[in-house]
Amino acid sequence: MSIQFSRIHWRSAGLSAALIVLIGCAVSPQQEQQIGAENAKMVETQIGVERSHPLADYVSQVGQRLVAQLDQPEFTYHFAILDDPTPNAFALPGGYIFISRGLLAIMNSEDELAGVLAHEIIHVSEHHSIKQMRSSILPSLVELPGNIVGGVVSEDLGALINTPISAGNSLISAKYSRTHESESDSLGIALAAKAGYQPSAMADILKRMNDVVELELEQEIEKSYFDSHPYTPERVAAIQKQVPEISVTSSAPVQPSMLNQLDGLLYGPNPAKGVFKQQVFLHPDLDFTIDFPAQWHTMNQPQVVAAANKQQTALIGMTMADPQFTAADHAAKFQGMLQQRYGYDAQIDTHKYAWGGQSYSVSLPTEVKGVASTIQQQWLSYGEHVYQMFGYAPNTQLDLVDSTMKSFAPLTDKARSSITSLHIKTVSPNGSAAALMKQSSPAVKPEMLLILNGVTNQEALSQLPQVKILEEKVWQKPQ
Ligand SMILES: [Zn+2]
Repeated sequence: MSIQFSRIHWRSAGLSAALIVLIGCAVSPQQEQQIGAENAKMVETQIGVERSHPLADYVSQVGQRLVAQLDQPEFTYHFAILDDPTPNAFALPGGYIFISRGLLAIMNSEDELAGVLAHEIIHVSEHHSIKQMRSSILPSLVELPGNIVGGVVSEDLGALINTPISAGNSLISAKYSRTHESESDSLGIALAAKAGYQPSAMADILKRMNDVVELELEQEIEKSYFDSHPYTPERVAAIQKQVPEISVTSSAPVQPSMLNQLDGLLYGPNPAKGVFKQQVFLHPDLDFTIDFPAQWHTMNQPQVVAAANKQQTALIGMTMADPQFTAADHAAKFQGMLQQRYGYDAQIDTHKYAWGGQSYSVSLPTEVKGVASTIQQQWLSYGEHVYQMFGYAPNTQLDLVDSTMKSFAPLTDKARSSITSLHIKTVSPNGSAAALMKQSSPAVKPEMLLILNGVTNQEALSQLPQVKILEEKVWQKPQ
């Protein structure tokens, strides 16, 4: 759950209206640009982009240098850093290119950055992105009882819960065809070489991304570059085969050291979006914690934080409600809707929290997978926001929904100081590899540190002129 999400219009989850109309039709460059712009805005609100870090300017400069080598570009190109810890990059139609901070973190040269950006530029210039969108579908995460999706709790909420994890947009989770991939690799490295970059760097970064995926497989990768860009060793082989045929235009890089540019970059999850510590969700920027039931599967998405039991017969989620209305108003509106639409007389229960807040909740009977269950909705004002909590559970487990809702509390100073973030720190090694490893946060495996630096053993690490290590800091709310 990120701080921006109160500004999201719920109905924007999923495909944009313009896109739905255009699926299956011929699309003009103007329409492509419009579709890209609308969806880029959604990506920005739902996932977030990094604008303040100096790296944002740098990525744009490298991108524009590549664009300058295109013959008669049809679009104006935009480059942005996505607030996503997994290595990822994608292009939306009309010239909107995103690269994740997780992918930047594993880069070691401007040539690698240029290789990835050039690949994405080709997806746009060859109109792959618009073609790929037509075959995309919205995946779903949890099965919701029919009456939740259909009406009682609202379709919007259903769409929200089933928004793809960490993507928020079906466009970036669809696969390109093998033909489009090879074409982007081949034309991409040629474009990079024309702009003065080593084409073989694309093969290096592809291999490194694969190393990250392999190392983290056991840690449950939610989404990686390879979801939209299927990796095959053949891709690397094809690039390596093409490299000797390409002549590279000689020119100095935009910045002499990629590693200096990466210094300070956030690595791993962004605490500004809230963090889970076991079953406790802590949100340092919104100043609250909430405790979800033991053993339930938790998820933290841009617009919702939620947990479901293993059988998927119970779910609790929390989102932000429209701040124009008070918590009491929201409950009354819901009560009125139930009466008007279903002739159901619900009562509003209030609960006074020990810390002073007051919630308003409405419950109603339902059936989930043939079991008598209850839906509970609650609204609570806290800080500048109104939080909407919703849940359903078999009647025998309803106390879990209720106790979760009642566990909402302001974040204590102690809990706040337990929230940390990792940042890349660029250092010049002056000692052994072991000393370097010790300098880096133990939160990141030594194997990952090697991959980050593009080496395979500790000896090679200590011989690099500059090394990326990771520094752990107590999370500070951005000013
Ligand atoms: Zn691709």
